[in-house]
Amino acid sequence: MIKKCNNCLYPQNAKPTIQFDEKGICSGCNYNNSRKLINWNKREKMFQKLVNEIKKKRKELGNYHDCIIPVSGGKDSTYQVWLLVKKYNLKPLLVSFNHVFNTHAGEKNLENLVKASGLDLIRYSAGLSSVQKISRLMVQKVGDITWHYHAGVRTFPFQVACDQRIPFIIYGEHGYSELVGMLNLNYIVEHTYWSRKEHDMRGWEAENLLKFKNIKASDIRPYVYPDLNEIKRQNIRGIYLSNYFKWDGKKQSEIVIKNMNFKTLTYKRDRTPNLYAKIEDHANDVHDYLKYLKFGYGRGTDDCSLEIRHNRLSRSEGEKLADNYDRTIPRSLNFYLEFLKIKKNEFYSMIDKLSEKKFSKINTSKRNHKNQQIKDYIFSNKNRNLYFNPKNPPKKHRIDAFDKHSTSFYGY
Ligand SMILES: [Zn+2]
Repeated sequence: MIKKCNNCLYPQNAKPTIQFDEKGICSGCNYNNSRKLINWNKREKMFQKLVNEIKKKRKELGNYHDCIIPVSGGKDSTYQVWLLVKKYNLKPLLVSFNHVFNTHAGEKNLENLVKASGLDLIRYSAGLSSVQKISRLMVQKVGDITWHYHAGVRTFPFQVACDQRIPFIIYGEHGYSELVGMLNLNYIVEHTYWSRKEHDMRGWEAENLLKFKNIKASDIRPYVYPDLNEIKRQNIRGIYLSNYFKWDGKKQSEIVIKNMNFKTLTYKRDRTPNLYAKIEDHANDVHDYLKYLKFGYGRGTDDCSLEIRHNRLSRSEGEKLADNYDRTIPRSLNFYLEFLKIKKNEFYSMIDKLSEKKFSKINTSKRNHKNQQIKDYIFSNKNRNLYFNPKNPPKKHRIDAFDKHSTSFYGY
């Protein structure tokens, strides 16, 4: 029988590598709790020191840009830009890997970000036929329709960094830690080649794809990591801001809505009540549905668990909500099956082979959980535009990109 965390909704088989302590609390909750023990003023001072180093290095190298921010048009990258430009006066070069599965909202928000920041942007748009081939292959091999995103986002900025001799790449949160607490906040972890390959790319290096006849060298170009000696020689580092600032997606979204013209969705989404996170890509729903089919939980569980940890949702309400969203078949499924040329029954039997059967025994806990004090309830009127509540739906922007669900390929 698979247990759930005694605080949030994560099951014991959550990926990657969730751990439960003797009290039945998961490593994601413990990671979140450890934030209270961190001296954030001290961390901010450490970051200021790093900023000084970044600026000094730019002068030494005679560069115009002092760092790279990988951007997608999502709330995190928009927040990174706001923080680094408006508060720290850095001169970043924006680098975007266009994976092709953008929503119209994502494209609009990227446009807003570039306009609001006034910064330069380098964008690599992967070819549709390469994306189709790689996506189809990786669904078959590892059940991941978005393998090429992770590969592109963790590789293309390093290619630009090497070419342009810009030694600092600044990412936002350390994603897996935020969800399942893979790491400890006491260690200031940076990007590594190992975690890129093992976690982001599920153990597959781009060159491994060449053993399949239909994949050519030209298809994998944005995913080929630069020579490791060159990265070492130029001392190129990938830094996570969540080591230096108390990370909370909701608060950051409020900042970028106010200051960067970032816009949220207003329609009901298929896989989560959240209207501000991961709104820039429409394959995320299918990607997440695959996770549900393989492991028995999806984004409903991820997002509701985060809200429970931040005391914005009770565990019992979160459990019902997560269950409903996790079971919902996304509207975009047929669109993607058509694009990948996979028949529906073929798709389900393929995923069945990758699925962990034991999750059918995930224990829906009936225990009483300690009375949680809800401080900033997600469905209160003031959060109306941030979480979808059918009883009090968000105010429309009167812009189709944000008000209407659609699945087309935007961004070419
Ligand atoms: Zn937990």
